[in-house]
Amino acid sequence: MTVTSRGSNEPSLDNFWMPFTANRQFKAAPRMLASAKGMYFEDTDGRKILDGTAGLWCVNAGHGRERIADAVHRQLSHLDFAPSFQMGHPIAFEFARRLGDIAPAGLDRVFFTSSGSESVETALKIAIAYQRAIGQGTRTRLIGRERGYHGVGFGGLSVGGILNNRRVYPLLPGADHLRHTHDLDRNAFSKGQPEHGVELADDLEGLVALHGAETIAAVIVEPVAGSTGVLVPPRGYLERLQSIARKHGILLIFDEVITGFGRLGTPFATEYFGVEPDLVSTAKGLTNGAVPMGAVFASRKIHDALMTGPDHVIELFHGYTYSGHPVACAAGLATLDIYQEEGLLRRAGHLATEWREAIHGLRDLPHVIDIRTVGLIAGIELQSRADAIGTRAYEVFVRAFDKGVLTRVTGDIIALSPPLIIETGQIDQIVSTLHDVLIEIL
Ligand code: PMP
Repeated sequence: MTVTSRGSNEPSLDNFWMPFTANRQFKAAPRMLASAKGMYFEDTDGRKILDGTAGLWCVNAGHGRERIADAVHRQLSHLDFAPSFQMGHPIAFEFARRLGDIAPAGLDRVFFTSSGSESVETALKIAIAYQRAIGQGTRTRLIGRERGYHGVGFGGLSVGGILNNRRVYPLLPGADHLRHTHDLDRNAFSKGQPEHGVELADDLEGLVALHGAETIAAVIVEPVAGSTGVLVPPRGYLERLQSIARKHGILLIFDEVITGFGRLGTPFATEYFGVEPDLVSTAKGLTNGAVPMGAVFASRKIHDALMTGPDHVIELFHGYTYSGHPVACAAGLATLDIYQEEGLLRRAGHLATEWREAIHGLRDLPHVIDIRTVGLIAGIELQSRADAIGTRAYEVFVRAFDKGVLTRVTGDIIALSPPLIIETGQIDQIVSTLHDVLIEIL
């Protein structure tokens, strides 16, 4: 089986090893996206597919933005690549400065990476290096959460809480986990933050009691867990986690790879939840998904401590060939211009009520056991089929795609996170398509 022409419907799996994909299943029934504009993909048969997921939670300003394309093109002919080790180039400084202007309060020191996974590894390493710089070198333990997703590096896998990601691989010693906050018995069909579960933050106290605060460098959480099915934190949970972490000298890291850049109606989830973490990992919406890039936002306290710490030669022995890549910075600057001029970093806040009510309209349909919404995110959880977990939501995904709407599934949860430019008619299209599919399936 080979690709016979550009846009052919016959993908060859002889060479492209597809990531996070059941390759054999894909081979049997490929879905191929050929182009994209605004809210829509077009598949290789020329069918329009409404993007209900902003690609992979990243195309916040919609697809095919000419301004980003032009900026990338210009930058490629002007300065395609330059190292960032021991030297610089202006656009990386400019992008960092512009990001500093919108950064979460006090977190205006920016370290560039090329992906969410790299941002997570970077944030974890900064946390440990900071503790060492302030004379707390015994603090190397990292705490994550059950059902957390922090990318695919060994650090991220270790603090992450998804079995399939973790099995097979050796993990970091000293990583431990808080319980997740998913609780259908108490919180099903909550609108926004659920009522119950603030006490789960006290798990951090439990780990301090177990391991000793002097061994713990940082705790990392997604403010809203996305990849494991949209888990919105219970009211007061993140605030309580912050105060426990602070009390014990443990750094708080928000992994905002999904929630950063307007997904909740604020530039970052820090503002939405009124929490001030010490480090924030981002990627995806940073460049509207157009060029791979990530960034870690660090507090001045952390940055200052490292700049005046014991390692005089290179304060943080860490970096990537593509850190601050000029072309990615050009894409990021154009993206930021669009976000700011079109008010996109706040738009999800204006749409949130309409979105929430529309999605919650599906609650009485067959198989639906929970609906969760926050900002422009939704998770619709279905009753799993006996002995076939995940097959029901996967069938919804396939049928919705066939009817022209892209969704995302994880287990038996359908996750939605459309571009922030979505209009009412498109919200209606997503909801009515899911309505029809949920009635069709067994
Ligand atoms: N952290 C979170 C919270 C994520 O959602 C993701 C990706 N979905 C990552 C990290 C990893 O990002 P990437 O795939 O760009 O490495």
